[in-house]
Amino acid sequence: MFGRFGSGGRRSSGGGRLIIALIVIAISVIGYFGTSQINPVTGENQHIDMTVDQEIALGLEAAPQMAQQFGGLSRDTEATQLVKSVGRRVLERSEANQAPYEFDFHLLADEQTVNAFALPGGQIFITEALLARLETEGQLAGVLAHEIGHVIGRHSAEQIAKQRLTQGVTMGAVIAATDPNDPSSYRTAQMAMVMNQLVNLRFGRNDELESDRFGVQYMAEAGYDPRSMSRVMEILQEASGGGGQPEFLSTHPDPGNRIGRIEQAIEELLPGGVPADLQE
Ligand SMILES: [Zn+2]
Repeated sequence: MFGRFGSGGRRSSGGGRLIIALIVIAISVIGYFGTSQINPVTGENQHIDMTVDQEIALGLEAAPQMAQQFGGLSRDTEATQLVKSVGRRVLERSEANQAPYEFDFHLLADEQTVNAFALPGGQIFITEALLARLETEGQLAGVLAHEIGHVIGRHSAEQIAKQRLTQGVTMGAVIAATDPNDPSSYRTAQMAMVMNQLVNLRFGRNDELESDRFGVQYMAEAGYDPRSMSRVMEILQEASGGGGQPEFLSTHPDPGNRIGRIEQAIEELLPGGVPADLQE
């Protein structure tokens, strides 16, 4: 994995500065360890030690590596436009537009792996394999709205803080001990480790349930039938049938249990019932 990161001729000289910036972020993450922040949307007191700007910078830096892991960006321009436009509609017409993040939606070329995920700061991905299994625009909205929920819930930043807790300051100390003016491959390898950690983050069960709740809310606000989210869970369950478990399910708890929670969330959100004019 380090080789892939280090061998990239695609990385511009500006990337080197970003790497240094990320080292500073990593060090500051250690420095701020022990702090907590109130989430402006949920009001939850979270153990998070990075700023919104740091989340955005980290997500943007990790996005190319994330895309690479899933065959790069899709060449299907029509499907890519659909993903971007549905994502933007969910954003612009829902409360999610009040979040301080720079959202972008990407379709990945991977036709085998049924998956979707979000990096901190607003970079959101869905694979062609998952998109191909979806039956309606509302289901696509559901997937993207759920991922928007992860960003707004600041789940990556929370998980990173938790990893600091378990891993201690070892990695930060290694980075801090490295001369920032020495563009050694050693430091590149260390940053690859940070990036790799980021793109392989696993959210907790409560993160998933919170994102499901955000998801149905944002869908409904954007004019999509939130019940489409339940069908998304069924589709994921079907994708997990037989043999290999799709990666999506290793980061997302049992879809069967979640459908009940989603229905409950919809009832709480729309006590008068789901309006008939919402798009499926
Ligand atoms: Zn999720």
